[in-house]
Amino acid sequence: MRDVVVAANWKMHTTPADAGDLARTIASRTREAGVTRVICPPFVSLGAVRDALAESDPDVAVGAQNVHHELAGAYTGEISAPMLVGLATWVIVGHSERRRDAAETDALIGRKLARVLEAGLRPILCVGEQLADREAGRAIAVVDAQLRGALTDHDPAATADGGLVIAYEPVWAIGTGRTATGADASAMADAIRAALDALGWGESGAATPVLYGGSVTSANIAEFLAEPSIDGALVGGASLKPDEMAGIVARAGITARARGLAG
Ligand code: PEP
Repeated sequence: MRDVVVAANWKMHTTPADAGDLARTIASRTREAGVTRVICPPFVSLGAVRDALAESDPDVAVGAQNVHHELAGAYTGEISAPMLVGLATWVIVGHSERRRDAAETDALIGRKLARVLEAGLRPILCVGEQLADREAGRAIAVVDAQLRGALTDHDPAATADGGLVIAYEPVWAIGTGRTATGADASAMADAIRAALDALGWGESGAATPVLYGGSVTSANIAEFLAEPSIDGALVGGASLKPDEMAGIVARAGITARARGLAG
């Protein structure tokens, strides 16, 4: 049975001075058996969050929001995967805000994915269409192309063994208060697994968790987790609010229990 994952993307919020307290508070409000929790603070707050969680709730994992596609070199201001080892165990790659602001391409994202896996870190690969794509009926084709672009050169078994999670995040739903419907998210999750199958993933594709992301809150999470093909959420704005995270993870706990993951 696939893992149930709730990942918090804090984006460019928190400082090393306040991130540890926030992580501790969220951890204490989200203890739900069977739910994999991940908090992704800014790079500079990784150490503070790691230390706070190590002492208060080591079950909550720490993730980075990005990584460079090279191992080392003359890349001023960048962070490589080996630098993250010891600070984080997960890494988000291909977030739409980086595709938009840093012109990240699918090929580049594929290289980042390779660095993440080589370092023994667990990747969350973000995919999702623009509003114009959805309105033109191209949503599935766009996501399919993103997956092919990022995953084509990767060995399916090694990538699956590395714990790949895919986050379907329609760009028009991120930070806008608009969401996809549960049915649309579910249809996309099915399309994502079909794309993995076409890339030769076989059983591994069916076993890959697919999260929904895009204005997820405690009020709407149930619509997504009611869909058997959706395995959790990547949460942005609401992930900075302990009450919201408590509600989101509580609902994820229901799914984890239904899947027999709660032990
Ligand atoms: C995100 O940052 O991945 C995200 C989904 O943001 P929000 O929940 O704020 O839409």
